[in-house]
Amino acid sequence: MSSTLYGFPDDFDVIVIGGGPAGATTAGLLAQRGRRVLVLDRERFPRYHVGESLIPAFMKPMEELGLLDRMEQMGFERKYGGTLVWGNNQVPWNFSFNKGGSYEYSYHTRRADLDAMILDRARELGAFVVEEATVKEPIEEDGRVVGIRYALRGLEGTHEARASLVIDASGQARVLGRKFSDISWHDQLRNVAVWTYFDNCHRLPGDEWSNILIEGLQDGWFWAIPIDKSVTSVGYVTRSETAAGGNDKSLEELFVAQQARTTKLKGLLSDAHQTAGFRTARDWSYTNERFYGNGWVLVGDAAAFVDPLFSTGVALATMAGSALSKIVDKIIEYPEIEEKALDRYATAYREFFDDIRKFVEQFYDRSKTKGFYFTLAQEITDPEKENEASVDFVKLISGLSGRHALFNLNFDDLIADATRPSIAGN
Ligand SMILES: Cc1cc2nc3c(=O)[nH]c(=O)nc-3n(C[C@H](O)[C@H](O)[C@H](O)COP(=O)(O)OP(=O)(O)OC[C@H]3O[C@@H](n4cnc5c(N)ncnc54)[C@H](O)[C@@H]3O)c2cc1C
Repeated sequence: MSSTLYGFPDDFDVIVIGGGPAGATTAGLLAQRGRRVLVLDRERFPRYHVGESLIPAFMKPMEELGLLDRMEQMGFERKYGGTLVWGNNQVPWNFSFNKGGSYEYSYHTRRADLDAMILDRARELGAFVVEEATVKEPIEEDGRVVGIRYALRGLEGTHEARASLVIDASGQARVLGRKFSDISWHDQLRNVAVWTYFDNCHRLPGDEWSNILIEGLQDGWFWAIPIDKSVTSVGYVTRSETAAGGNDKSLEELFVAQQARTTKLKGLLSDAHQTAGFRTARDWSYTNERFYGNGWVLVGDAAAFVDPLFSTGVALATMAGSALSKIVDKIIEYPEIEEKALDRYATAYREFFDDIRKFVEQFYDRSKTKGFYFTLAQEITDPEKENEASVDFVKLISGLSGRHALFNLNFDDLIADATRPSIAGN
């Protein structure tokens, strides 16, 4: 049986399903604008999550949330760029974020701490956050989503909450997407990942000290992310069919066997100790066919997920959350613009995502040269060739290529249409 919870507000401007980076950013920025926001997450934070290396585009939403100083105080490792063993020879090459625009560094983080920090900030800004609250289903009336039913851990039954709009930021659980949208799987990025943690790793030399290392092999690639002074996250990504068929090894055995074939990574790990068990995840990129509907909208992994080769997930989730907060704020003020405004958001988000996905798909071809990858970035994001190709490459993998209007969506025309006085007789 459903009920509202005694003593608990049950009517909001916005409900956000999921308090990860996408949900917490959207909720915090909406609360900052004075909106009444409810965030429900099935976990108690801090909770573990993969995805520890961040790109510069992530810094802008954190700046909007007022979190830049706090990230520095948390002692997260600054990330100035990346080192790659990738392409048609094994000669390492690297890139620096300072070539790509407004932010010269981002961070490597422990996601449990990062995600808890953003969710705490949403709470400080006025969002109503309930943890250990699992959303079960949307409440629909006359074809519109008007709220959700959720269960609290340890309590019987479900409870209801209502809002003008429900945002699904539930990550790969896709609570609303699963119900309302088909999904397109990107077959070229049908991968699996296996990872663990080491201490006492060597670091890359000189300026590359805190770079992420990405080392390609014939059948997959490794990441090495120096999370802090002692811990390094190391993961292996390979195609699902390589992992499943044609060899009798478990993913963990595959990790060990493949790691022995690396050059640069093997050196970093030569005196290291594994400090955790292995974890695995399906790592298969997808896009929902629909990003929004009547009374609902998707953000973050709940909308689309792209392979972690360039560590884009959290930045994309928070950038889209920032954009969505501004849009939803306007929709609450001018409900007449809802459909067109969400359509503009969906189009900009999809185009931005597709640029990264197309680039990653082609980057997986390891038979090419560094110059080829730079030109590819330019063809995708800067066909007028306004920048050097190497700059376009860094901008793209920083999430700052800026070709699409995700950050600068304008609705003045929609609002003008919605508020124009109607002429009698028309
Ligand atoms: C192997 C791998 C490596 C990766 N590496 C990186 C990386 O280095 N850098 C990077 O930026 N990204 C990386 N990513 C991607 C990154 O982890 C995600 O893109 C990011 O977490 C998306 O944030 P989100 O807020 O959309 O979803 P999530 O962080 O998954 O948050 C969703 C939240 O929703 C909650 N939830 C789910 N269902 C319900 C429900 N029914 N009711 C209530 N709450 C619910 C969950 O508990 C969770 O807290 C990686 C991904 C994989 C698979």
